[in-house]
Amino acid sequence: MANRTLIQYFEWYVSGHHVLWKKCKAQAARLAEFGITDVWLPPAYKAGFLEDNVGYAAYDLYDLGEFNQKGMIPTKYGTKDEYLEAIQAFHEHGIEVIADIVMNHKLGADAFEEAEAKCVNPSNRMQDQSDLIKISAPTVFDFPGRGGKYSNFKWRYEHFTGVDWDNYSKRSDRIYQFANKKWAEDVSGEMGNYDFLMGADVDVSNEEVKEELLNWGKWYMDFTKIDGFRLDAVKHISASFIKEWVTHMRKTSGKEMLAIGEYWHGDVRELGRYLNQVDYSISLFDVPLHYKLRDMSYAEGHYDMRRLLDDSVLKVYPNHAITFVDNHDSQPGQALESFVNVWMKQVAYALILLHKDGIPCVFYGDLYGIPATRNIPIPRLRTMIRVRHDYAYGTQHDYMDDYHIIGWTREGDDMHPYSGLALLLSNQGQGAKRMYVGKQFAGKVFRDCMRKIREEVVIDLEGFGYFTVQGASAAVWVVEEAYEQLIINED
Ligand code: CA
Repeated sequence: MANRTLIQYFEWYVSGHHVLWKKCKAQAARLAEFGITDVWLPPAYKAGFLEDNVGYAAYDLYDLGEFNQKGMIPTKYGTKDEYLEAIQAFHEHGIEVIADIVMNHKLGADAFEEAEAKCVNPSNRMQDQSDLIKISAPTVFDFPGRGGKYSNFKWRYEHFTGVDWDNYSKRSDRIYQFANKKWAEDVSGEMGNYDFLMGADVDVSNEEVKEELLNWGKWYMDFTKIDGFRLDAVKHISASFIKEWVTHMRKTSGKEMLAIGEYWHGDVRELGRYLNQVDYSISLFDVPLHYKLRDMSYAEGHYDMRRLLDDSVLKVYPNHAITFVDNHDSQPGQALESFVNVWMKQVAYALILLHKDGIPCVFYGDLYGIPATRNIPIPRLRTMIRVRHDYAYGTQHDYMDDYHIIGWTREGDDMHPYSGLALLLSNQGQGAKRMYVGKQFAGKVFRDCMRKIREEVVIDLEGFGYFTVQGASAAVWVVEEAYEQLIINED
């Protein structure tokens, strides 16, 4: 079994000319070739407004760029047929497709309707700020352009818990909770209760809604043949619902279905509490590790690398960790901006790609660059993905023993020819470490595939090598035969 590597195949400012699905199809073979096994695609359904909406402002979950709604047929990324062709292309090259699922909210209602609601305090949603009043709520979703194809479900205010817009007062600084509704209790406790995020908040405790979302999930799997889910905004959705939904999808499909929750929180204890709530049925993005990588990258060497993995999902919940360096929310200009400083990106990627635990997720913006904010592609990222795919196997020996330089080795295994490696990461000066790669390498030559200079390390009879690393960089030492292979494949 090859190591899994996920790629997030979009960034916030990716071209809005409906071309992403076409690019997916064109690039599928190339991605498979350098070791990508799973691709996370952006929300594929029609968004509520704006041609270029990234897709999280979900309008119609059944419109994958098929119906003339919101002013056009395609979504930002293309048409339904192009989406299906992209998925098929990935499958033909052995890549699994992870769909981005937005179930928390809807935006871009077809019409307003009068409903009774009360204002709650935006910074403490358990606190009422008014009695029941009549509002004009953006909660009518009939999807006239689709005309009932795939589902006849029509959304009304009783299918939602609250909204952030009243068309009578036209105020956008309020949160309204509908009469006789309660926020879900098993959600994040931030803001008093964080059930409400934006738009019209879907009430997953409503039996009709629950049934519709289960039906939709089944339809989506059958219709598109996707292999897994990236669940958006799970800290705002009832944990018991998420567990039920994911379990149902796995049961219906008979597939393993990788399910990744986006629970944006920097404290691993909070994430652990959540994993427990969903019965460990999903994996989580390693947000605590992302923040540590970010902090290290701006500390100019004043960072204790021995502690780098402490309190990360990778370390505490290794079987549920989706590690990443950056994403569409952390990239410059976005909501959760916390972009890892470019000079430490290579170190960050070496760390997540070559560790034995977690499934690493490579960011599109790091692979291809981000023209909108002038971010360049990360050098040698492809090489590191290849190393992960071909050589990062076998027992891991950790050397987390120095403030500025840490590393580990992998002994390799019999299934993967020339596998095994020695990794060193520096956040300041250059240095060296004597590390054990295994007696099977005695007398063998290792080379650093992050550098063109053909420096050699010869493994001694005890299976140790004296490996070096340049300042503020990553050194990835592999056996000579693997090195030659990597150099050939570089271009
Ligand atoms: Ca919610």
